[in-house]
Order: sequence, then structure tokens, then C-alpha cells
Amino acid sequence: MTAPVPSQGSSAAASGASASGASAEPGSRMSNMSRPRILTGDTPTGRLHLGHWVGSVKRRVELQSTHDCYFIIANYHAFTTRVDQSQEIRADTIEIVRDYLAMGIDPECATIFLQSEIPAIHELCFLFAMLLPFNRVMRNPTLKDEIKVKGLGENYSFGFPLYAVGQTADILAFRPVGVPVGEDQVPHLELTREVARRFNQVFCATPTDIEDADHEQHGGVFPIPRAEIGAVGRLVGIDGVNKMSKSLGNAVFISDTAKEVEKKIMKIFTGRQSPTEPGDVNNALFQWVDAFVPDAARVAELKDKYAHGDNIGDGHVKKELAEHVNALLEPMRKRRAELEGKDDVVLDILKKGCARANETAEQTLELARQAAGLHFFPRQLTYR
Ligand code: ATP
Ligand code: MG
Repeated sequence: MTAPVPSQGSSAAASGASASGASAEPGSRMSNMSRPRILTGDTPTGRLHLGHWVGSVKRRVELQSTHDCYFIIANYHAFTTRVDQSQEIRADTIEIVRDYLAMGIDPECATIFLQSEIPAIHELCFLFAMLLPFNRVMRNPTLKDEIKVKGLGENYSFGFPLYAVGQTADILAFRPVGVPVGEDQVPHLELTREVARRFNQVFCATPTDIEDADHEQHGGVFPIPRAEIGAVGRLVGIDGVNKMSKSLGNAVFISDTAKEVEKKIMKIFTGRQSPTEPGDVNNALFQWVDAFVPDAARVAELKDKYAHGDNIGDGHVKKELAEHVNALLEPMRKRRAELEGKDDVVLDILKKGCARANETAEQTLELARQAAGLHFFPRQLTYR
């Protein structure tokens, strides 16, 4: 695999088409190149769950036929909390690709790739780290929250806050216009937007008083990407309190069996005592009802009965909810089962994705190095 370094200003289409070997059919890589670009991704700290579906992946599936999509599996970032579990990180990386395919991401349309295979990301991270005051990184509320809920205490590694800077490089290496994410990622996106503006101002003489949308037009290397929040920005976990997270034991996974899904949904905590007690239709259970019961009239009916304590138990609502969640997951389970034991298929998809991703990221790095006076010798990346 080669990742040729293009000359400055060469089109992404020219370099992208050669390595992917794709034709110019609609939906192919070549036609993708003229589309608005998006980037988003996941950390292999476990398998994907319903929060990923409503917060980001559903949107990705919708956008993959109209946008040039890059989906990163941030495997280096998984080491921030799992440094002693390298084999599990590797296994979860494969599982996440299976989840992607099961959920409907098409590797012929979208580029699925590994963070650890893209050297340009790590080089940009070093440069970006110089543009961000340390205190600014530590002020990120998502980082503070993660330190608390993941129980990291005072002993988190230097790499932990560094991952927030790394994430700005994960994104900007691809110069996307949009980043489809859940609500918790907004502070990371804000940091990314700040670093992009700062880079453009410091190294490309971009004026400080222009609109975000005009940065590239004024010579900036980086666009200022927008966060695009999914239909449900923060799905609560079955504990009824925290965001559903892979790491917190409060998730319903895409790969759970129908029985497991039902059992977990029965555990959603509401604190309500009886079917005649007027219930809170903004509680965790009804956040799930809003997210997964597709019939708006039925949702309104359930809410009305629940709010009036009209002889409707939590168990009844949960059973109905579980049926809808299982109806959503059943086709995903089938597609996932077809990939069982086929690691070679998954690795092949990743290798092709990494080749494409390196073409784009090397192109960005080249532009950034030229802007920062670091452009000495052209290089070519090669996989054996
Ligand atoms: P971890 O516990 O390791 O942080 P996670 O479950 O939070 O894992 P991430 O890999 O951090 O998952 O997030 C991947 C993407 O999914 C991000 O865009 C994030 O905002 C979104 N996301 C994760 N959990 C939820 C949720 N409960 N609701 C909505 N979006 C979510
Ligand atoms: Mg997270």
C-alpha cells in the first residue's frame, strides 16, 4: 500500500482514485471526492450500543450516500483507560467494524480506518499541542466528567488529557466540514474549532475577524468543522442517570440477544412505585420511548396514561419498548452473525480504508507542514 504525498494544491480526487481503484460510478470513491466531507468515529473501549446508533451511527448511514465519509476507530485513545488491555482493544476494534457493517455502514461508500495506521494524525497532534494552552485543554467539561465517572482520580496518565488534543488532529487531518456526534463531544469539537482557527491565524495569516465559513477562502489550511448532533444527543443508560457508555456497564449493545435486551430494558430505573402513581414522562424510560417507539400517536397515548397514573405499570411500557428495540436490532443481529469468524473480511476492509485515509491525511499534513515551514523532504508511506 502506498500513500503518495501529493504536491500542494493537487486535488484529492486525483490521489484518492488511484489507490482505491474505484470507478467513477455513482456512490464510488471518485464521485465521493466532490462531496462535502464528514469525519467521526469511536473508541474501542467495548462494542457499540444503542447510544451510538441514535447519537451518531444512524446519521452516518444516512449521510454515506451524499457525503465523503471517514469513520475512525480511535484505538490509540483506548489506551488512555485500558493500557493493560492491549489484546482486548484489538478484539474490540474488530467488533466495532462488525457493528458498523451490521448497522448499515457500507465500506464501498465510506472509509473505515484505524487511528494507529495514520502517522499524519500523530504529527499534527504534536503541532496542535503547541497551539493550545494546557489550562484550556483541562477546562474541557467532557474531560473533567470522564475523569469523574471513569474513576480515574488523580492518577490519570499524561496521555489522558493528550487524547483531547489528539482528537482535534483525528478530525482536522481530514479537513471535514461536519462531525456527526453525540452531545458529550461538543466541547471536543469546540477545542477542534479553536485549534483550526489558531493554526490558520498563526501559520496562514488568516485574518482574525472573518467568519468561520471563510477560513479556507482566506488561505487557511483548515475549515472550521461543525458538530452535527444526532436525533438523540445523549441517550441515558439503564441506570437511568449516566450517559449510556461502553465503559459504565449501563449499555444495551447492538450485539445483545433479544433476551438480553429485554432483561436490560426491564432494569431501566425510574423510581416509580405503582401503575396508578402519576409518572414523569421526562424520566429515563420515556427518553427511551421517545427514541425507539416509532409511532408518535402511540407515544402520546403512553405518555398521557403514564402522566395520569391511568393503570399503566412501568413493566408494561418496558415490554412494549423492548419489542421495538428488538425489531430495530434484529436485522443488525442477522448481518452481524454473517460476519462471525470472518476477521479476514474485516481486516481487508480496514486495510483498504487505511490506504484511502492515509492519502487524504498525508495531503493535509503536507499543507500544514508547508504552512509551518516544516516542509523539507517529500515522503511516501508504504505498507508491506
Ligand atoms: P466510553 O465509555 O469509552 O467513553 P462511549 O460509549 O462514550 O465510550 P465513544 O466511543 O466515546 O462511546 O463515543 C462515540 C460516539 O458516540 C460519539 O460521537 C459520542 O458522542 C456518541 N455517543 C456515545 N454514547 C452516546 C449516548 N449515550 N448518546 C448519544 N451519543 C452517544
Ligand atoms: Mg465516550
